[in-house]
Amino acid sequence: MSSEAVISSVTIDENTKAPSSTSQDAVQKVNLLGMSRAEMEKFFEEMGEKKFRAGQVMKWIHQFFVTDFAEMTNISGKLRAKLEQICEIKAPEVVHRNYSKDGTRKWVFRVGDGDGSLVETVLIPAEDKTGSRKTLCISSQVGCALDCSFCSTGKQGFQRDLTQAEIIGQLWMANLSYMEDVPVIERERSVTNVVMMGMGEPLLNYDAVLSSMSIMLDDFAYGMSKRRVTLSTSGVVPKIDQLAQDIDVALAISLHAPNNELRNELVPINKKYPLEQLIAACQRYIGKDGNESSRKHVTIEYVMLDGVNDHPEHAQQLLKLLKNLPSKINLIPFNPFPHAPYGRSSRNRIIAFQKTLSDAGFVCTIRQTRGDDIDAACGQLVGQVADRTRRAEQWKKKIAEKSEIIRTEG
Ligand code: SF4
Repeated sequence: MSSEAVISSVTIDENTKAPSSTSQDAVQKVNLLGMSRAEMEKFFEEMGEKKFRAGQVMKWIHQFFVTDFAEMTNISGKLRAKLEQICEIKAPEVVHRNYSKDGTRKWVFRVGDGDGSLVETVLIPAEDKTGSRKTLCISSQVGCALDCSFCSTGKQGFQRDLTQAEIIGQLWMANLSYMEDVPVIERERSVTNVVMMGMGEPLLNYDAVLSSMSIMLDDFAYGMSKRRVTLSTSGVVPKIDQLAQDIDVALAISLHAPNNELRNELVPINKKYPLEQLIAACQRYIGKDGNESSRKHVTIEYVMLDGVNDHPEHAQQLLKLLKNLPSKINLIPFNPFPHAPYGRSSRNRIIAFQKTLSDAGFVCTIRQTRGDDIDAACGQLVGQVADRTRRAEQWKKKIAEKSEIIRTEG
């Protein structure tokens, strides 16, 4: 969201620097939730305020999770009143949530203006040697155009890009879910890691994702370490190069196949950017092409599909493919969804696959399946909620039609 776009939706009275009274009914409030620091500084300057106000307001929003300007006590009453008139802090609406016994949390958010758009966000807790982690998997689009054959989201088609407020709103809500009853001043952020790996291809919603990640890294907002923010892509090669220039975050590749023939089938964007181009872009990203980079490796995501990509020769092909790319490999047991054309590889197959890669010196982990008691594959929960909503709407329509018939007949 550019600040120009934001400002243009508000009419400011040049004398009072407040929205003009004649325009107030028509004023669409500016949502500050998704503004990066640079955007918010510009916004305040254009209001005639000092730009350091941006940092103050960002802290209230992203560190104390405040939505009421009256609670921003280090800001003058006059400015708070002005902000109240023209701004809002508005997160996407939670329409469904599931908290698993194992600590996994999933939400379905309604985004947009009642167009029925839903997105899904998942939080997975884990313990490791650095302590406890809470990793949030964030969506970047409603649906997805890339149609990977094993993906529930891909089956829903593409609806639209999420805005910055809708992307960062997922992180904001997930943090808030741990402290709704905690007094403002005692609030602390709980989410430790973010992966842009939910619904959608983040590099196809580039500007909004980039700006949202800058908010995640910003010390005036979430202050996350750049190694704890990961962007996962199916392989939009030109955007990987752009990302390397624009921000320093970790990169993950949804690889899923070790040769072009199979990858064309599983991840169709491979037809446009085949493996040779993708691996070269990853090498550039971590500076393996001779250029300077502080990034040390990429993460390779590989979903294990029974009898499709889990043969011993696939593991051998993967070794060859990755031999010049410092990488950590994450094997993901497939999570079947209704009408999925694949099944999950057996435990033995997955362990044998892992052993081949580990014996060759790769760090190779098997993702634990989590939250099985609350739901299955990414994108599936949205499908279920959408189905229920559709059924409820159809039911309401039927009742309305029946009442109409009764009225007419009466
Ligand atoms: S795996 Fe990712 S890129 Fe492929 S269809 Fe699903 S959401 Fe889109």
